[in-house]
Amino acid sequence: MKFTELGLSQPVLQALELKGYDTPTPIQAQAIPPVLKGDDLLGVAQTGTGKTAAFMLPSIDRLRQSDRHAPRKGCRMLVLAPTRELAGQIAESARDYAALAAMKVASIVGGTSVGRDRQKLARGVDILVATPGRLLDLIDQKAFGLDGVEILVLDEADQMLDLGFIHALKRIVSLLPMKRQTLFFSATMPKAIKDLAAQYLTDPVQVSVTPAATTAERIDQYLLMVQQDEKQALLEMILSGRHKVPGEFERTLIFTRTKHGADRVVKKLAQVGIGASAIHGNKSQPQRQRALADFKSAKVPILVATDVAARGIDIPGVSHVINYELPNVPEQYVHRIGRTARAGADGIAIAFCAEDERAYLKDIVRNTDAELERLPLPDNFRAVVEGVGPTKPAPKEQRGRARVTPKNPKRAPGGRGGQGGEGSSSQDRKPGKRKHPGRAGKPKKFGGPGGGGNRSRGQRSGSGGGGGPRNNNG
Ligand code: AMP
Repeated sequence: MKFTELGLSQPVLQALELKGYDTPTPIQAQAIPPVLKGDDLLGVAQTGTGKTAAFMLPSIDRLRQSDRHAPRKGCRMLVLAPTRELAGQIAESARDYAALAAMKVASIVGGTSVGRDRQKLARGVDILVATPGRLLDLIDQKAFGLDGVEILVLDEADQMLDLGFIHALKRIVSLLPMKRQTLFFSATMPKAIKDLAAQYLTDPVQVSVTPAATTAERIDQYLLMVQQDEKQALLEMILSGRHKVPGEFERTLIFTRTKHGADRVVKKLAQVGIGASAIHGNKSQPQRQRALADFKSAKVPILVATDVAARGIDIPGVSHVINYELPNVPEQYVHRIGRTARAGADGIAIAFCAEDERAYLKDIVRNTDAELERLPLPDNFRAVVEGVGPTKPAPKEQRGRARVTPKNPKRAPGGRGGQGGEGSSSQDRKPGKRKHPGRAGKPKKFGGPGGGGNRSRGQRSGSGGGGGPRNNNG
């Protein structure tokens, strides 16, 4: 299928040509025709699936067809996004896609000058991308109104709810014209989201590109059982290449649970000469933008983030996502690892799990069908830790860990994407297909359907079968 078969206008098709896109992604192929027709849409899709273009391209054509003027202090299409970064990104895409359609695009987010936003919006815009808080501020100041909205897009609705935007959202929707087209996207579909969609959408067409809350197929997921006080040393060894893990590092996104945790990791990495930036809610908007830009340009290819700041970030070439701490909400795990393997690329996710995070791991595996393959810790790891980091002695049960040795020459640690005869490219694999389910001597896996299922790549032998978190001694 080609974009030319979907009924889009010439200016939009030409803009796509300039971007170099000719084949729609599955969500685009499914969503564009009904949105062009004017239907409401309920989309279950993670970021990285091409969903921004899926709603933006047909909407631009809808706006072209209705041919109204942007109202003063108002807009014709309103896109609500949960985070500043995501809003910025959507606006950037919208500008590209609408470049030849004579549309005015703006974005307004918290942490920037309100005065400038008022100016931006005074004469009206066609497409406005906003975070809910800032939008309401401007509405309360009578600097903006929603009467002229023809199309509403709610992006990452589950994250909006997680971030406590429900009241803001309800208020905003109550101010919109009843007659409008509504497009609603969420990576997951818990009951609260379904209820909200039922309220806001009229007879929606439903499209779904991954089943709700499953982990992305193209991501190889690994697990390292490690004590909390060993994590920093392990991270340093992995990033410096002293402990090989699968994949060649391009850009690495590291997740911590807290803002302080993120700063601490960055500081300690700096102490051993590894440059990294942090991105979280305590950073100013310019700091966040700089960290993102440095990460994008690979000037600083290691970014340590909290969930909120990283949600929806679209950066090509994130080779690794490291969960330095496991999230306590299983869906968050899906969102985090979704930062890698975007737009068809492969990705590697590595989870560090300490003793007190086992319950989180169990939840993640149970709720997301994740399959994590256990990796060994470095040899003599405790001694290394005591040499470089905290000196607390290992508890008895931590000593003499069982070693899990790699078996599959296709995916030897340290090589990725065709290096050294590594033939396991994305094309080779059939996502979702599992070889030899339930054969004897299968690699140690955590989770997945049937608990301990096997996928066709990255096989490693382990002591005993998978099926659930085990202690470090295997
Ligand atoms: P999204 O899920 O909207 O964040 O998009 C993920 C990435 O895929 C973005 O970098 C898009 O620019 C890119 N993308 C979207 N649609 C296509 C397409 N049809 N072909 C190639 N890349 C695309």
